[in-house]
This record gives sequence, structure tokens and C-alpha cells, in this order.
Amino acid sequence: MTETTTYFNADVVIIGGGIAGLATAYYLSQKQNLQIILLEKDSIPNPNNSSYGDERMYRRMYSNEYLSELQEESLKEWKNLETQHDCQLLRQNGLLFYGEAWDEETIEGSIPGARRVMEKKGIPFEALNAEQLQQRWPMRPKSDFIGLFESTSGMVWSARAIEVFRSQAEANGVSIHTGQETVSLNCTSSSTVEIKTRSGNTFLANQVVLTTGAWTNDLLSLFTTPLNLEIWPMVWGHYRVEETLREQFPQWFCFQQEKPDTNDGGLYYGFPCHTPETSLIKVGIDWCPPELRTKTMSTFVREPHPELVQLLDRFLRHNWDGIKECVGLYFSPYTMTKDTLFVLDKLPGYPQISLFTGGSGQAFKFAPLLGKLLAELVLDRTPSFDLSPLSASRECVISSPDEQL
Ligand SMILES: Cc1cc2nc3c(=O)[nH]c(=O)nc-3n(C[C@H](O)[C@H](O)[C@H](O)COP(=O)(O)OP(=O)(O)OC[C@H]3O[C@@H](n4cnc5c(N)ncnc54)[C@H](O)[C@@H]3O)c2cc1C
Repeated sequence: MTETTTYFNADVVIIGGGIAGLATAYYLSQKQNLQIILLEKDSIPNPNNSSYGDERMYRRMYSNEYLSELQEESLKEWKNLETQHDCQLLRQNGLLFYGEAWDEETIEGSIPGARRVMEKKGIPFEALNAEQLQQRWPMRPKSDFIGLFESTSGMVWSARAIEVFRSQAEANGVSIHTGQETVSLNCTSSSTVEIKTRSGNTFLANQVVLTTGAWTNDLLSLFTTPLNLEIWPMVWGHYRVEETLREQFPQWFCFQQEKPDTNDGGLYYGFPCHTPETSLIKVGIDWCPPELRTKTMSTFVREPHPELVQLLDRFLRHNWDGIKECVGLYFSPYTMTKDTLFVLDKLPGYPQISLFTGGSGQAFKFAPLLGKLLAELVLDRTPSFDLSPLSASRECVISSPDEQL
């Protein structure tokens, strides 16, 4: 039997329908007369990707000044979106960084580093000792713990943001194809890329945007050298809390040094996500042991690792009051770069391909700006924000031969 191939032509094909791809589709769709197609291998929203879930933290409390500035710009974009589309995407509920105050950067920064940046930038915060922490929140901090509370931080309604970008992009004419996995990508000329999907369709585009998150190297390895990325399976979930304490849980991030003897990375986070019917907090571990880290999604395990589940449970019950039963656990991918900064650039050697990856567990809060910047790359406009720290050619992102798939 001969298979029939359907051909589609577009100015731009975006591959990947997580938050980065959808935000790019949204910003590109504001340019008139541009034929845009977005291909997603699964569904939108996609329970398997890094963007899945109802809420994400946003904050200006970073040890890295660049990220703090990126957040400032992104917040302006989030607020524009709220106004333009008459929806609430942010909830400003503050964020507590607390724990040990050793001066070494983790994947989320550090307490002293964040304090330095906030002081320099004039971002308001409160500094608290262990006694003050315990008086203010239902927690049991160790006596040497300290805390910083940044009241202007909060959470992004992430599932809602996905829906706003998806529906507005479609309303502006973007053609979104789900269940379309890209299985080959061929740059036939300097201005034409041929994309084939598993279901037998062929798409021809002048420009391609790769927003394939943790799958980026699986795709790149089909036609070029993959990047130096690692995939970390991260445990997160929801716990019920005492009804009487439900309003008292803050959005928090706990920093403790890694303890190799117990295989505990020491980094945990949580935030309230109540609905009128339930008193839930969302919690997670912001670390995974090296033996679980992978280079390809083909070996990604979806079942939460029992030891990590136990660590999370033990941490919560030892450190917070009012923790009741766990009502759901997930294992979702972080795509890590060595310096925990993203990659947002043209793919080196491929002027037709723009790329975002390496969200490193922290990209959601920047999504509108990332989408806008990717759109500017595609349209060959001067980027409205300094992209040099996110270069795809920076040393820690270029694979050495032994690190390739
Ligand atoms: C548990 C967890 C908690 C997090 N918490 C925060 C937080 O509090 N604050 C914050 O700012 N960030 C947070 N992040 C990070 C943030 O969510 C991610 O950086 C961001 O969602 C990455 O989005 P993405 O679009 O790059 O990737 P993804 O959401 O993974 O999207 C990539 C998409 O590409 C599709 N795809 C892949 N290959 C193909 C192919 N060949 N063909 C077609 N489609 C393909 C995939 O199916 C997928 O849907 C968290 C991440 C996780 C996992």
C-alpha cells in the first residue's frame, strides 16, 4: 500500500507546544500575513512536558542579576497580557527564601546571593531569623536558619497562560497541529526547511523554531551535534493541609546543603494552591540524584522515584505543621544547562533555525519575554533584551564528544 503524503507550506513552523512554543506563536501571530504552523507531538496541554500544571513561581529574588532583570521585563509583558485579554495570570503572594545561609550557588541561587542582588536593585525584602520565621508561618526552622521574604513575588497561573497563548495564537490565524511528532528535519536550502512527521505529513518552512524542551537533543541528533544538556526527572505533587492552617502557608523555597550520606540535595519548595473545595499545597524537590539524570527522553522514567518521594514526605513532615496526606505525585523533566541559564539563539550553522531550550526548572516566569524574543529572532529584528548570556555557542552549552547522545 502506498502512503499518501500531505504537504503544508508556511513561513514559520514552530516545533513544540509547551509554553515557549505557544508564547512564540502568540507573538509571531501579531505580524500580519505570516503563515505560521505549530506542531506538537502530544496534546496541548501536555501532561508529559515541563510546562504542565496549574501554577509556577515568579520572583525577582535571584542571585543572578541578569535573571532578575529578565523577570522585571517579563512581568511587564505578563501584565500587558492580563490587560489585553482581560484575565488574571499572576497572583502576587510573596515568596520566602529560607534555610542555611552558606555562600554557594545552587540551581535556584542562594540566600546571600539573592540578598545582594535585591539590595543592589532596590527590590524590597524583609530579613528574618528562625524565631521570626516560626512566629509568622506554620513551620519548624532549625535555629541557624534565616529567611528573606520578597513581597512582590508570586505565582503564575500556568495552565491558564498556556490556554491564553494557545487560543489567542489560533484566533490570530496560527494553525496548531497536535499529535504531529517531527521525525526528520532537513535544511534543503538557506531558506527552506523540510519537516516530516511520524504520521506522514511534510511541512516546508522558511524559518523553524525549535521549542522542544527536554526532547531538543533527541531532535538535534537527527541532523546535527546535540547540545550539552541534561534531563533531570523532578518529583512534585500536592499535599492536603490542616483546614485551620490553610491560609497560613506561604510560597517558599528552602535551601540546605547537599547531604551525600542520605542522598538529599537539600532543596525543596512549596506554595498554596487552594480552591474553595480543597486545602492543598504544591510541593517539590528541586534536585535529583546524578544517577537519575539522563541525556535523552527515550529513557525518561515517568514513575516518581520511591526514594525521592520518601525524602519529600520526610522533609515536609519534619519542617512544616499541618501536613496531611499526599493527593498526587508526578515526575516531570527539567532540561538543565551547566550554568542553569537558558539557550535562546539561532542554532549555530543554521540561520533558518531559532531555538529555545534549557529551561533549567525556571523558565515559565519569563515566558512572554522568551516568546517575544524568539519572534524577534525569527523576524531578524534587533533583540529587545540582551541575549548574549543565552547564546547557543557558549562554552558550557557546546557538547564535547563524550557528552553526545
Ligand atoms: C516540576 C516543575 C516545576 C517548575 N517550576 C517552575 C516555577 O515555579 N517557575 C518557573 O518559572 N519555572 C518552573 N519550571 C520550569 C518551566 O516550567 C519550564 O522551564 C518550561 O515549562 C519549559 O517549557 P518549554 O516549552 O521549553 O518545554 P516543554 O513544556 O517541555 O514543551 C516542549 C514540547 O515540545 C514537544 N515536542 C518535543 N519533541 C517534539 C517533536 N519531535 N515533535 C513535536 N513536538 C515535540 C513536547 O511534547 C512538549 O510538549 C518548572 C518545571 C517543572 C518540570
